[in-house]
Amino acid sequence: MATPVGNLQDITLRALDVLKSVQLIAAEDTRTSRHLLEHYGIPTPLTSLHEHNEAGAAQRIVEALGRGQAVALISDAGTPAISDPGAMLVRRVRAAGFPVVPVPGPSALAAAVSVAGLEPGTFLFLGFLPAQPAARRRRLEQVRALPFAVVLYEAPHRLRECIDDLAELLGGERELVIARELTKLFESVHVCMLGEAGDWIDADPNRRRGEFVLVIGPPPPCADPALDEAQRVLTLLLAEVPLKQAVRLCADITGVKRNLLYRQALALKSAQDDAP
Ligand code: SAM
Repeated sequence: MATPVGNLQDITLRALDVLKSVQLIAAEDTRTSRHLLEHYGIPTPLTSLHEHNEAGAAQRIVEALGRGQAVALISDAGTPAISDPGAMLVRRVRAAGFPVVPVPGPSALAAAVSVAGLEPGTFLFLGFLPAQPAARRRRLEQVRALPFAVVLYEAPHRLRECIDDLAELLGGERELVIARELTKLFESVHVCMLGEAGDWIDADPNRRRGEFVLVIGPPPPCADPALDEAQRVLTLLLAEVPLKQAVRLCADITGVKRNLLYRQALALKSAQDDAP
């Protein structure tokens, strides 16, 4: 279940009810979560579940469920299992035959996207990029040409080098929204072009402090001439032959990868279907 990403008032009435009524709360860091529970006067006992003990903790939680207890899972901030532990627990609990119920609420991801002004509101969420520079650059190369906005979490000490890699590999002309310290005292949302972001950050040391979500707008329509040509060919083929055949022929003609074309074909098809 979701807990605040900063401002303690960002918690739902239902989340408070659930935290009060369960017999046990599994928390990523029990000290952090105790602060939240004390703020709301909730005495429910805590047990720890973090990335290094998730398998053992999941086993104990399944046993507790077997004894008829109700258990809530929370992370340090936001929604569990989004760049946070929880997915393994969800799977083990479900495999053991118990229901898993979402209690939705804050997530830094949703908060940042909600102020990014993305049109048409679709994006690819990558969580944290790999810390190792070569792996990070490989990941960015994988998504470079995809026609989607990209949303990332980034740690403050890696922000500057991350921005450099983003500008180099995705192109300085893509829009960047730097959402920092959302819902907290020093909240800021800065919009610039990727190519300008390094200088903007360097101009004030405070701009690299805190927690960050980066939202990179989709590539401009003409960013990759090969993809533009593929889209033109694909559109013509889709009017004549079934989708799979159109993708195969288009890949043969243009050399663009089939999986990329397949996604594009689905998007074109649904745009055609939606057309009045
Ligand atoms: N599961 C959480 C969620 O749903 O938001 C995210 C957990 S992830 C370990 C923590 C990262 O989320 C931070 O490093 C930062 O990138 C982002 N984040 C969390 N709180 C934030 C905030 N208040 N403002 C901006 N980014 C935040």
